[in-house]
Amino acid sequence: MPNLPKPRRRPWQPPRQNNAPQSGRKVKNPFYQTMPWRKFRAGQKEIAIEQSRKIMEEIIKAGKPLPPAFEKLQPLCAECLKGTPFVKKKYTAARVLDHIKPINPKDAYNTAGGRFGEPLSPDNVQWLCDTHHAKKSGAEHLFHSKR
Ligand SMILES: [Zn+2]
Repeated sequence: MPNLPKPRRRPWQPPRQNNAPQSGRKVKNPFYQTMPWRKFRAGQKEIAIEQSRKIMEEIIKAGKPLPPAFEKLQPLCAECLKGTPFVKKKYTAARVLDHIKPINPKDAYNTAGGRFGEPLSPDNVQWLCDTHHAKKSGAEHLFHSKR
């Protein structure tokens, strides 16, 4: 595919601040500042940390060295965990709880008959690393700009 979008980061631009994962081209949705989302996210984080603990115990049981992502217990990127036949699966720290199916940017609770995803459903969220989140939101940006 010759028309893949090029990375937007330019060498002369300063790297993105670590404490601003949502900054950039993505339009901020005020839903992400609300208590229901913050509580939901905190609960999902606890579950993800528990899953990381189980993965860590399996690695230890297998006598393998612990990857750096286990220096502290934290959510792991769902996409990095998948791997592909060509890309080995990786253990990467995830800071973004991403909606698998994007939520309504105007009213998160209005799914418009299924056109948008559920905002507070455990089935519609996944933890992503910064790289996979940037790839996904970049793809969503292109998708929306073409309509
Ligand atoms: Zn990832």
